[in-house]
Amino acid sequence: MENCIFCKIVLGQIPSYKVYEDDEIIAFLDISQATKGHTLVVPKNHSSDLLHIDSTTLSKAIIIAQKIASSMMLSLDGIKGINIINNCGVEAGQSIMHFHIHVIPRYSSDDFVMHGSNPGNVNDLLKISEIIKRNI
Ligand code: 5GP
Ligand code: ZN
Repeated sequence: MENCIFCKIVLGQIPSYKVYEDDEIIAFLDISQATKGHTLVVPKNHSSDLLHIDSTTLSKAIIIAQKIASSMMLSLDGIKGINIINNCGVEAGQSIMHFHIHVIPRYSSDDFVMHGSNPGNVNDLLKISEIIKRNI
């Protein structure tokens, strides 16, 4: 897709530090490293986000994310864990509208923040789980 940074990376029009590539998926280092090794897994075909990608491609992408995570655990000094993240929609923090999965290595001393601090009460949790179930 025209004017999509990730499509340009797929086509080699913008350079990237590649970690993985096959016919359908590419993975490269995020230009802004949330932690050392932060990698993006990107299907080569353009889909805007999680809600618009076909499930076969999504499956391939998450399998590659797992492979990269396994490789990170074996190869990155000091790594203790990994976050796999997808931001879907601008309000959720998505800034590049070409579906991608963040693979973020975690270290004891890193300052990456993820968790909210809203425990929620039992009634609210029950209600929201019922609402989400409706359309699965
Ligand atoms: P999002 O915010 O959409 O979930 O993630 C987009 C990510 O793409 C951001 O973490 C951002 O740093 C990264 N990014 C933006 N432009 C480029 C680029 O030109 N090259 C690389 N390698 N990463 C980019
Ligand atoms: Zn694209």
